Amino acid sequence: MEITRDLLMRKPAPAYEKLKDGEWEQVLAYAKGYKDFLDAGKTERDCVAEAAFQAEKQRIPVYTRHGKAIMLIRRGKRPLSEGLRIVAAHIDSPRIDLKPYPLYEKDGFALLKTHYYGGIKKYHWLASPLELRGIVYLRDGTAVKIAPGNDSPVLFITDVLPHLGTDQMKKKVAEAFPGESLNVTAGTVPDAEEGDDRIKFAVLSALHKRYGMTEHDFQSAELCLVPAGNARDAGLDGSMIGAYGHDDRSCSYAAMRALFDCPAPEYTCVCIMADKEEIGSEGITGMQSAFYDTVLEEMCTAEGTPLSICYQNSFCFSGDVTNAFDPNFADVSDPQNNARMGHGPCVMKATGRGGKSGSSDASAETMSKTRRLLDGAGVCWQMGELGKVDQGGGGTVAKFLAMRNIEVVDIGVPVLNMHAPMEVAAKIDCWQTYKAFLALYNDC
Ligand code: MN
Ligand code: MN
Repeated sequence: MEITRDLLMRKPAPAYEKLKDGEWEQVLAYAKGYKDFLDAGKTERDCVAEAAFQAEKQRIPVYTRHGKAIMLIRRGKRPLSEGLRIVAAHIDSPRIDLKPYPLYEKDGFALLKTHYYGGIKKYHWLASPLELRGIVYLRDGTAVKIAPGNDSPVLFITDVLPHLGTDQMKKKVAEAFPGESLNVTAGTVPDAEEGDDRIKFAVLSALHKRYGMTEHDFQSAELCLVPAGNARDAGLDGSMIGAYGHDDRSCSYAAMRALFDCPAPEYTCVCIMADKEEIGSEGITGMQSAFYDTVLEEMCTAEGTPLSICYQNSFCFSGDVTNAFDPNFADVSDPQNNARMGHGPCVMKATGRGGKSGSSDASAETMSKTRRLLDGAGVCWQMGELGKVDQGGGGTVAKFLAMRNIEVVDIGVPVLNMHAPMEVAAKIDCWQTYKAFLALYNDC
């Protein structure tokens, strides 16, 4: 190469500047489909149900575990011994779970005790409309889905009024909102019958009428509070989506749609929507579970290929969101190495915290393949790290794929307000992430 200014990398341009004719309409149509998915998928269970419904319409085989983890598989032309093309993302999002014995009455209110799930800034969830979702198994084992109706009342956790906030304001944020204080207000009207806990009884009666449940049935329930309301366009230009659960439904949805849309895959393509990422990918539905291996092993065995060989030849995108550079909080990021909103998905060679602790740290070989794959497909993409080196950090499912000897790198949508009840992502970044996953599934 001649010594010219071309030695310098051009500053990545916003993805808007590289739109082809008619592509913006595609971006908007994709965003519409994604918003519908978010509205249908407020919990991992809802996401599994919606993904299974959509996959079955496409006649794509669906494998699920406890209705909370799902794998979609499209068989390719090549044998499984040549490996898979996997996109693994997660469908659980931070939220407020109910405790096993949640319901009580105090000072004229029926209240629900909670235990938050995932890394939240607790104050985000106070004085904000919430809804109850999940599943209850009744005494006889009947499963009842808990979901609000169209005009159901919202639930909420109170915060102290500013007028009386003198003591609260003096506290550190990390100490001002103890987990034990996140109690949900559930009712105020006492039941007409005499007895103790008449307000609690009235709330329970309403639950019984609607769902057939008793207080005992909380023992076999998974109930959580998630933000009420639907995904909305955000910004005066409507270029973004404000919604609960971009982390990580923006990548899960992109993976699913890409799997549907790859015409005739060369390699067998797998879309994993895992549960429990927000608490370490634990449990039988988390990425550490043998569930995923069991399904794939069965497929490999039928073809006479050891799963280990299939894994060794596989390539995986761990689809997960990262922080978009935020001018309001610029000092937490290295501006040269932080994802920019509107510049497409961010490839993260390493995640983790401190000295890359807890990261699978993709090799140069993996980065080389990734780079050629994305550039070859004309994807607008960028690289980055999650904020400044010593500012904090975060993990993804990547290391649990790497543990299986699968080549993997993180890539996902840059978001603002990560883990808040309203996260924000740019429509164009959701679209470019879809294109990136499509490129992997179309790999030949
Ligand atoms: Mn995530
Ligand atoms: Mn997260």
